[in-house]
Amino acid sequence: MKTYEELTTKISLALQSLSMIVTANLISKLNSMRASGMGNSNIKKILVVDLLSGGRIFGQLKRGVKRISKNGIEEAGNIASYKMFISKDYKEYKWVTVGRNICPDCRIRHGETGDISYFSTIGLPKSGFSVCEGNCNCQLVPVEYKGENLDKPIKYKKATEGRK
Ligand SMILES: [Zn+2]
Repeated sequence: MKTYEELTTKISLALQSLSMIVTANLISKLNSMRASGMGNSNIKKILVVDLLSGGRIFGQLKRGVKRISKNGIEEAGNIASYKMFISKDYKEYKWVTVGRNICPDCRIRHGETGDISYFSTIGLPKSGFSVCEGNCNCQLVPVEYKGENLDKPIKYKKATEGRK
């Protein structure tokens, strides 16, 4: 289980690596436009269009920041849940598979039970153990929890639906 400090470090490293990728792509795009003989004012126009339309360069930046923020907030929510469960002395947890596009790694985990240290070893939701990596929406709930239909994975249609 991560601490809030570890999560902060993870988020700042993810943002650093995103800015390096975006900068490298921007430089390479600039170089290829210059090499093709394009003047500054046309280069500027193309960049403005890319910025406004969420094109290859700035779209990547926008989507990346969105993904990192969303996953960071959700992971902080998971940490808060685990802290609360542990403080209430729940010992056994059940994996509830949740998502829009459920990956094969998460699908087979649905209904699996164990304690927090077991799940920490095999990989908590969003920990990066799965194909869906940080986009994982799965949840651990105390086995005592009898919520909505938990016999099957919870599938939702749009990325914006379904999260608390
Ligand atoms: Zn998952």
